[in-house]
Amino acid sequence: MSSIRKIKQISKSVPTIEGAGVHLKRAFGNNDVPLLDPFLLLDDFHSDNPEDYIQGFPWHPHRGIETITYVLHGDVEHGDSMGNKGDISSGDVQWMTAGSGVIHQEMPKGTDEGLMWGFQLWANLPASQKMIDPKYRDVKQDTIPEVVLDSGVKVKIIAGVVNGTKGPVQDIVIDPEYLDVTVPADISFLHNTKKGHTVFAYIVDGSGHFDHQKDKVLAQENLVMYDDGDSVHITSSDGPVRFLLISGKPLKEPVAWYGPIVMNTQEELDKAFEEYRNGTFIK
Ligand code: FE
Repeated sequence: MSSIRKIKQISKSVPTIEGAGVHLKRAFGNNDVPLLDPFLLLDDFHSDNPEDYIQGFPWHPHRGIETITYVLHGDVEHGDSMGNKGDISSGDVQWMTAGSGVIHQEMPKGTDEGLMWGFQLWANLPASQKMIDPKYRDVKQDTIPEVVLDSGVKVKIIAGVVNGTKGPVQDIVIDPEYLDVTVPADISFLHNTKKGHTVFAYIVDGSGHFDHQKDKVLAQENLVMYDDGDSVHITSSDGPVRFLLISGKPLKEPVAWYGPIVMNTQEELDKAFEEYRNGTFIK
């Protein structure tokens, strides 16, 4: 029997300061574990004032997770201790599997007008893959397909499948879907989701009904978490609504998290920080 997912919880992203003083909004994080398993954190950095982001995220380590950066406007300069370097520009995605360890910096640069807007999502890795070799997927904007449905709904497919079109990010352990969806005014979007997977929507712009039996979800409350089911049904209201629709298979493992490192046990966390101090972090 097919079932449309109902809303489990709605919340609003919270102003937070991260890195060397970046003002951003956190949709979910440390305090919400394991609500969005396999996802750990979603940050929305959006400002037209360079003072809010220019200090960036200087050298820091990651282990045990994947960090997924999606830039809407501006550039993020990325560099790591192995010498990998590159810009994540408007429309690009960097899907970084930190695995056993990456030491990197992420420096937002903004557009000529000073606008910076992007998202960073953290996905957890299962115990069996926390210590795998690091891997980058640098996904350029022109390799992300955009499908336009008969209804006029536009979907950029970073990961997952819409109408037979597959996104470029594949073979990820949590079997994720990462879509950037724009629904025109007074139009519905019905999308199949895998049973048992965690599904959430994060509103980028506009407002809509994210569960057709509930009241309008305003852009003020921008995170919509779903109960289980095999589809989501989203309808725009007076104007268009744009949102990220993200799903993944829960890991159901213990989470030991401190700062940028997420392991299964406190012992593994202690070891990671000890290795970082000793200079033996990078494998
Ligand atoms: Fe980082």
